[in-house]
Amino acid sequence: MGGKSVALVRGNAEYRDASLEPSVEVMKLWKKVHNDMRSEFGEAIFRSWLKPLTLQAFYHGTMEVSVPTRFMRDWIQNHYAERILAMCVEASEGFEEGIKRLQIVVVQNAIIDDEPETQGLSKANQNKKIDISEVSSPLDERFTFETFVVGKPNALAHAAARRVVESLTIPFNPLFIYGGVGLGKTHLMHAIAHAIEEQNPEKTVMYLSAEKFMYQFVKALRSDSTMAFKEQFRSVDVLMIDDIQFIAGKESTQEEFFHTFNALVDQNKQIIISADKAPSDLSGLDERLRSRLAWGLVADIHPTTYDLRLGILQTKRAQLGADVPDSVLEFLALKVTSNIRELEGALNRIVAHADVTKAEVTLETTQEVLQDLLRAHDRRITIDEIQRKVAEHYNLRMADMHSARRARNVARPRQVAMYLAKMLTARSLPEIGRKFGGRDHTTVMHAVRKVEELIEEDAQIAQDVDVVRRALTG
Ligand code: ADP
Ligand code: MG
Repeated sequence: MGGKSVALVRGNAEYRDASLEPSVEVMKLWKKVHNDMRSEFGEAIFRSWLKPLTLQAFYHGTMEVSVPTRFMRDWIQNHYAERILAMCVEASEGFEEGIKRLQIVVVQNAIIDDEPETQGLSKANQNKKIDISEVSSPLDERFTFETFVVGKPNALAHAAARRVVESLTIPFNPLFIYGGVGLGKTHLMHAIAHAIEEQNPEKTVMYLSAEKFMYQFVKALRSDSTMAFKEQFRSVDVLMIDDIQFIAGKESTQEEFFHTFNALVDQNKQIIISADKAPSDLSGLDERLRSRLAWGLVADIHPTTYDLRLGILQTKRAQLGADVPDSVLEFLALKVTSNIRELEGALNRIVAHADVTKAEVTLETTQEVLQDLLRAHDRRITIDEIQRKVAEHYNLRMADMHSARRARNVARPRQVAMYLAKMLTARSLPEIGRKFGGRDHTTVMHAVRKVEELIEEDAQIAQDVDVVRRALTG
């Protein structure tokens, strides 16, 4: 070998002359080790990271292998190199010159091996580019900060979203927004994307659902373009993945997402995630990923309150330019409590109806038009059921719902039950009072107000109410 090594520049890496070419023996060894990596690390990791590893040279006990990007080199170096070296050492027993080191270099145009299936990259793969606009989902023009109504239930998530847009550095990574269906997670994410595109048009923002992420990933696997896939995701400034719960239980997609996530965090790029549950409650998620998701800021969107619902209805009314009396908005805010999507739907329906019939919107027409919706809410749920569920939730007896006991641990759940009875059934206050051990209607009214207040102030109560409501309406 001596001193006659001539360096050739190919891509980023330096090439030595032919005398450093690995012997057939070493090539065979590498092929075996490379194949063994699949079972050693699993299919997902192999495909994501190790498959492109290509043997380049062997000199003085050093195996030199290449990958196409610096990022991959660093990642493999930190995560797999030690084990790969051990595998090489093991496989080289009996060799004249033992293997002592593994050197990973970057070769942008990696040598095309004659067996692209097991080693290196195919040319086609290198040339495949995934267009960001093709991967990213379109943004809804209506989902902006301007149209997002802020109230207690979503104040934290909204403030965090604003911070992400306004901050010059990355304020927290990731921003994790979670909450029930139809409470504004997607709206908030789109608002962030719109605002960033407006303020920093040079930034690349990628927004897509976890479902689409998985679809893209699987497609890339099939068309053997995972490298292009990786590079594309790693080239964005802001990555937003909506409804991450979708990839629960989908192992290889999670693995891929985890790597993308880490790569972007390493490069100090903003990640924003939404889910229907807190990271700790997302089942079917890899433990490492779960803990990573909770690294930044976790902001929850609570179920709506009466005030927020009314605020949203007022905003929508103004947007629609429709003539709807306040009493109707109040009625809707009281009755349609499930989520904002349904609330909007209800308003749209009565406005459309008024438009077609050229009739004024009144409380009566509203009740008529929304008969099915309101009855669906009413029919399903009885006060008995509510009492049973509340008692169950608080570990009380059914009798406590009717009793005269006023101890807080009984009285508070009873108030919650009265509140839910008012919200979820069409019963009047006196009727509800009668069902609760013959109480007066003012007692019920007081309970409803009290619980409304507590929902705003006490996250525990808000959660209790939400849990029971879901159990009843879900
Ligand atoms: P999620 O993604 O949480 O299921 P969305 O973001 O799709 O919910 O919201 C459902 C509907 O409710 C959308 O039309 C959205 O514009 C509307 N919406 C949700 N939250 C608000 C809000 N705070 N202000 C105005 N509209 C909202
Ligand atoms: Mg959504």
